[in-house]
Amino acid sequence: MAKKLLVLCMAALMAVAALVAGCGGDQQKAAEGEKVLKVGVNADFAPFEFQDENGKEYQGFDMDLIRAVGEEMGYKVEINNLNFDGLIPALEAGNIDVCISGMTINEERKQKVNFSDPYYKSGLSIIVAKDNDYIKKFEDLQGKKVAVQIGTTSAAEVKKIKDVDVKEFNSSADTFMELRAKGVDAVVNDRPVNDYYIMKSGETNVKALPDLLTSEDYGIAVSKKNEELLKEINTALKKLHENGKYDEIFTKWFGTTSK
Ligand code: GLN
Repeated sequence: MAKKLLVLCMAALMAVAALVAGCGGDQQKAAEGEKVLKVGVNADFAPFEFQDENGKEYQGFDMDLIRAVGEEMGYKVEINNLNFDGLIPALEAGNIDVCISGMTINEERKQKVNFSDPYYKSGLSIIVAKDNDYIKKFEDLQGKKVAVQIGTTSAAEVKKIKDVDVKEFNSSADTFMELRAKGVDAVVNDRPVNDYYIMKSGETNVKALPDLLTSEDYGIAVSKKNEELLKEINTALKKLHENGKYDEIFTKWFGTTSK
């Protein structure tokens, strides 16, 4: 009797196992059918990419843009939050498909990755304490302590200044914190990010200087091995410009139109 029961139990177990395996198989097939675009970002760069107060939802101009690009291309967008200086290596290693992170198109990066058509015009500006009267322009940073984010165009530009004492941080939020703590004389960062910080943080003890140090274009980076994907992205970007979606996203984040 016990033996019979055991056989019955085993049969039932096997049937359940087969069912579960079957389900798993189907689920896998559904997932395979869905095209996923793995996007790398450094989500600490408002208003381009940042997380909401609960640290969950990714939002910002870049996030809306890449979701619209993905939708246009028929891909589900999956966001991966990485350090800024880890984005190009992740693309090269094939861990992500594209990177959108307020990333400036420049010659050095073009050696390693391809860039989409430019999608945003930016440049660098300086933030100092409100009562600072000795830094008015880029040249005044000579011999001063300046905070920048690691691996950025700001870091590269500031390092060109004579006798400058550069302090490098993982995120722009950390550079602002250092200025607040009076650990540095100035922060150099992308102007829209500096402006957004001053507007949103309610910080009244700092000011942005009007000097724009560089003119830079942001692009979506793609691995050099993935020419086809680059074409698809450029086609999608063009479509979004034509159908007004790009302008809609631009106005949402910057309050003006892109033209
Ligand atoms: N635009 C700058 C760069 O490409 C900064 C980008 C960033 O910090 N996300 O280096």
